[in-house]
Amino acid sequence: MVVDIDKKSGFCFGVQNAVEIAEEALSKGERVFSLGPIVHNDKEVERLSALGLVYIDHDQFNNLKDCKVLIRAHGEPPETYLVAAKNNITIIEATCPIVRRLQSRILKIWEKSKESRGQVVIFGKPGHSEVVGLLGHTKNEGILISGPGDLHKIDITRPVWLFAQTTMSVKDYAIIAEMIHTKMKEAGTTDPDKFLHVNNTICGQVSNRESHLKSFAEKHDVLIFVSGRESSNGKMLYSVCESINHETYFVSSPEEINVEWFRGKNSIGICGATSTPKWLIEKVYDFILTI
Ligand code: SF4
Repeated sequence: MVVDIDKKSGFCFGVQNAVEIAEEALSKGERVFSLGPIVHNDKEVERLSALGLVYIDHDQFNNLKDCKVLIRAHGEPPETYLVAAKNNITIIEATCPIVRRLQSRILKIWEKSKESRGQVVIFGKPGHSEVVGLLGHTKNEGILISGPGDLHKIDITRPVWLFAQTTMSVKDYAIIAEMIHTKMKEAGTTDPDKFLHVNNTICGQVSNRESHLKSFAEKHDVLIFVSGRESSNGKMLYSVCESINHETYFVSSPEEINVEWFRGKNSIGICGATSTPKWLIEKVYDFILTI
């Protein structure tokens, strides 16, 4: 039996960067808080917690003073930085540079869109921390849509600047953009191409992985997808794999593996999300080799 690890699986650049910043801050022996779990992966959260990283939520953050708080890769809305300045909190900035650029772009366009009564629309997951941060850059005036059922929130007689959370599916984003375009046409908008501005904001680290995983999934009899259950990118990439290979199993740790999955199979592929640490993928690999 062949067991193969997908070479491209493991942390994306943004998460890797955030983890390294956290490790460096902790190595100085100081107390470091992280505003929310540093990554949507319980095992990595536990590892960093053992090194001393203390996780806090926004209520706890609002009551902290004179300390150091790490902002994770997903980023935060501007209010967080105002609270930090007021409470003498030193921010350890680990927002992914790609998310940071997207926040600035949304802020700029949101300000500009007011001249033409335009709307900033964000396609993303409600409550996801990246989305909360992005909406915060529009003073929460941006419109969040998570699927076709939310399109009624958009006034299609006014210009639309469309953005996607960085980890959304490329295919779903294209469908949403097309639906808005069609609605504008049906409403008699003279030039929907000028009224609808679709910004390509899905991260290449996710979209490239999507196409790469499709071919990886085809090559194996069974696929083990390793990810935290809270990871939105994990859910999305898992469904991409599952659509190609129906024998794809989602696990968060080696203990969840069922030996029956491998009976009569010749090749097993192991892959994961952009929030899955490489060491965890390797642990799953080692476990499968023992079976
Ligand atoms: S998926 Fe892309 S945008 Fe999101 S943290 Fe990773 S590198 Fe940054």
